Amino acid sequence: MPSASVTSNRARRSKRRIIRRSGISSRAIPSLNSNPDVSDESLGSVQAPSIPLPLLASNNPCSSTAAHSSASNASLASTSGGHTSASSISIPSALSVPAASASTPNLNIVTSCSTNDILNPNHVSPSNHVNNSSSDSNDSSGGSSGSNIGNINNSSPHQPPYDLRRKSPHCDPYTASNLVAGSAGGCSSQHCTISSLTSSNASFLSISGQQSSSSHTFCNAASYSPATLSSSTSSSSSCSSLANNTVGNSSTFGSTFSSSMLPARKRPRRSTYSVSECGVGNIASHYLQYELPDEVLLTIFAYLKEKDLCRVAQVCKRFHSIANDGKLWKTMYQRLFEYDLPLFRHGPGKFDIVPLDECEYDNPWKESFKQLHRGVHVRPSFQDIYVDSLSGRNITCVDTLQAALSLGGDNPIIFLHAGTYVGELLIIDNNAEIIGAAAGNIAENVILESDRESTVVFVEGAQHSYLGYVTLKFAPDVGGSSAPHHKHYCLEVKDNSSPTVDHCIIRSLSAVGAAVCVNGAGAEPFIRGCDISDCENVGLYVTDYAHGTYEDNEICRNALAGIWVKNFANPIMRRNHIHHGRDVGIFTFDNGLGYFEANDIHNNRIAGFEVKAGANPTVVHCEIHHGQTGGIYVHENGQGQFIENKIHMNNFAGVWITSNSNPTIRRNEIYNGHQGGVYIFGEGRGLIEHNNIYGNALAGIQIRTNSDPIVRHNKIHHGQHGGIYVHEKGQGLIEENEVYANSLAGVWITTGSTPVLRRNRIHSGKQVGVYFYDNGHGRLEDNDIFNHLYSGVQIRTGSNPVIKGNKIWGGQNGGVLVYNGGLGHLENNEIFDNAMAGVWIKTDSNPTLRRNKIYDGRDGGICIFNGGKGVLEENDICRNAQAGVLISTQSHPVLRRNRIFDGLAAGVEITNNATATLEHNQIFNNRFGGLCLASGVHPICRGNKIFNNQDAVEKAVSNGQCLYKISSYTSFPMHDFYRCRTCNTTDRNAICVNCIKTCHAGHDIEFIRHDRFFCDCGAGTLNNQCQLQGEPTQDTDTLYDSSPPIESHTLMKHGDSEEIKISLNIKERATVNILFL
Ligand SMILES: [Zn+2]
Ligand SMILES: [Zn+2]
Ligand SMILES: [Zn+2]
Repeated sequence: MPSASVTSNRARRSKRRIIRRSGISSRAIPSLNSNPDVSDESLGSVQAPSIPLPLLASNNPCSSTAAHSSASNASLASTSGGHTSASSISIPSALSVPAASASTPNLNIVTSCSTNDILNPNHVSPSNHVNNSSSDSNDSSGGSSGSNIGNINNSSPHQPPYDLRRKSPHCDPYTASNLVAGSAGGCSSQHCTISSLTSSNASFLSISGQQSSSSHTFCNAASYSPATLSSSTSSSSSCSSLANNTVGNSSTFGSTFSSSMLPARKRPRRSTYSVSECGVGNIASHYLQYELPDEVLLTIFAYLKEKDLCRVAQVCKRFHSIANDGKLWKTMYQRLFEYDLPLFRHGPGKFDIVPLDECEYDNPWKESFKQLHRGVHVRPSFQDIYVDSLSGRNITCVDTLQAALSLGGDNPIIFLHAGTYVGELLIIDNNAEIIGAAAGNIAENVILESDRESTVVFVEGAQHSYLGYVTLKFAPDVGGSSAPHHKHYCLEVKDNSSPTVDHCIIRSLSAVGAAVCVNGAGAEPFIRGCDISDCENVGLYVTDYAHGTYEDNEICRNALAGIWVKNFANPIMRRNHIHHGRDVGIFTFDNGLGYFEANDIHNNRIAGFEVKAGANPTVVHCEIHHGQTGGIYVHENGQGQFIENKIHMNNFAGVWITSNSNPTIRRNEIYNGHQGGVYIFGEGRGLIEHNNIYGNALAGIQIRTNSDPIVRHNKIHHGQHGGIYVHEKGQGLIEENEVYANSLAGVWITTGSTPVLRRNRIHSGKQVGVYFYDNGHGRLEDNDIFNHLYSGVQIRTGSNPVIKGNKIWGGQNGGVLVYNGGLGHLENNEIFDNAMAGVWIKTDSNPTLRRNKIYDGRDGGICIFNGGKGVLEENDICRNAQAGVLISTQSHPVLRRNRIFDGLAAGVEITNNATATLEHNQIFNNRFGGLCLASGVHPICRGNKIFNNQDAVEKAVSNGQCLYKISSYTSFPMHDFYRCRTCNTTDRNAICVNCIKTCHAGHDIEFIRHDRFFCDCGAGTLNNQCQLQGEPTQDTDTLYDSSPPIESHTLMKHGDSEEIKISLNIKERATVNILFL
């Protein structure tokens, strides 16, 4: 028997071994097409070249294939005698066309066999192939396939239709040896063999109007595989039964032919036909393979089922491409699985729906089919489409999920099709994978519902189980029974179970309990992509030592909290969206733990995240915003780590810490809150560190009622209120923060509070830097306080802070203002470059200033007014634009051992009924003079050293100059001043002694007193022209000559100076001038 075989016995044996070893049962070999596993392989073999027929044939341990073949032939014959019936078209089953084709036989082998075959040199060498072919053919013919061929040939009495032959351009049959020769001769190693005789082929012919078929075996008989043929008709492994099946199927045609199986595009016009007996079959096959339009083939293939499609795909490249048509597979796939898009399974519990344009597969539908075909379907009244004995399809389909689960088996995949399944008691204790199967939104169309018990319960044993793409409903019958449902849930995951719950919609109408409950040690579900919304209770409840991972869930609009974590439960929750709940977003309490990352929590009616009663969650990279109360609420000994979250636009504080709680708040952005940033109340503690707190409507940080947090390295800025507000006995260690650009005080300390502020930078505020009032105390140490619109530090109303080592500069008002009974101990501070007094002591205040450096002020060094007191010791007061120390209006400070020097005006001036105790001070090198006393001032002086002052005033007077020349209107040299009755000057005007002598000579004048003033005559504010004005003067270059005139009553520009009234009295005018310039 002429035949061409490409494989040796050894190779066959090795393939058999390989198949067995790979876990496929021996029956898999004959049932290459019927066994799903093998079907998989063929599904996977995308190459057109396919299984070498001899190999398959020889793999068939069964010898009954001959019977099958002949039976097929017989049926073919019988049908081809007349016209093909419609039924033959509609049942195009059992098409089996294993073929060797393609570019090289080696390739054939490779693609169809296991890789071990590649290693077989018999396969690798083309020459081997050719050389061996004849002997193999002998071998084959001696074996079952050989005999099959013989039988087939002998049992094919029918001739192919005539017109078909006529249409075929190549009808000359060649012998097998021709084939071999042709192959060897370079007709390309493609000695393809088609050999199939199948009812499908017959159908083709019928459809094309050719009633023919030939039962002839042509060509490479050895490559003909009756085994595959027969197996294709049945999933049974029994060859004989297969054969019988085929025989029984009278409508099945068999058409056996083989031909050169070159790909259509490469096919030479002269193909070789290897069969000797009858060329007609060749013609038919040729027609079938090459002449039939693609559309027709496609239509025919559309009747095939998956296994047959895989088989015809092995015929030739053209069949392969057509049989792999995406639409073809899509149609079949969607009929069975309903999915709009292919679903892939990457491993246990890993399903993925992939848009077509993102699929990596050529035919995603087919790939998905391959991955999923072993599943069990739950689809009431659709059983018939899952079982088809003709095509060998035998997919399990049952009516209920419970039935599917009870089928047992290892790790079953259960497709739960569209529909509502009510009242199934689902307690899952194995590794079943249950996945919804429906068109459209899958989960919405597959509904599991319960009204009494929990809808789905995972218990011990469910280690790798999966539940995905279904809706779980729990709708207790509230009217009928009063059964408590607080222990019933949509989904319950119990001890020692770790299912994956994926893309489920979860709805509970129970007014108690939760929609999802995970409880008990070892409960570690992976819940992802689920929608737990619109429930009448808590969305997700994790408790009693449970863990688990919860990712990408949508949890919203629930009546109670979105999530509860309690009693040492420690879940990991990532990227969940928790919003619009009617309670808190996430509630951890009673020692609940948890790691919460990148969750978006917003628009919940109460706090976004609540921590209570020993709970200790870690919350990182979450966004907590638009809460209808606060952002994060930690209370009743709550703890927790809140790191790198964004907390904003909440109606209350971004973070509330209260009642002995002690969380860590680090590196968060806390901004644009409708109230404050971080509130620590009620003996709260906490570490508030490295946060960026800004744009809040109230204080950035508020510390109240005996709270004692650590606040470090934060930036607190651009608040619409103050920066840090400490009150009601608040405490706290506030270190190295940058507090700036706030609308009110940078730091407010009041009502018995005693915080410690160290090394902060407090600057650029629109009011005060640090504000102590109403018994605000505490320590202010080593801070930089600068560039405020008001004073750097204000102390008033009983406040008594310790202020040490600070640098206070650049204020648009004073450096330090102590007033209204303020106290305070200021030591070792540097106070400089403030627009007004370095230190102001006013209105019954009594601070202590020791060893401060007060210099380079744009006004006086220390100004004491309105009954101000104070003890000033060992301060260095120098280089200030006005008096080093100005004491006025009933004040009475004590100055000891200060050094007051290098001032641009007087050293110490005392005026307006003030007095002072001056002991052991050194006053030197001041421009206007050392100690300047107005009329009637008699300070207590002891041991002072007043020396080397420049006495510029006295010199100007003795030089006959107008004092305006040395002072202009920006300073107030103390000297005698007069009024001129002749010029009718008012009390608001003062005239220097030299102007009286010169400009007002002969006028009626009056001496008023010795005090601080500038000369109005020289300033040109009188009617007469000052005659000293044009004279050259000395020492004017250091004065503020270029400053514009300012009327004194417009100078009341700062709120700090509330007590100062403008007086029409000239003596007070001097006061006003120095205060407000
Ligand atoms: Zn003058
Ligand atoms: Zn006059
Ligand atoms: Zn004058």
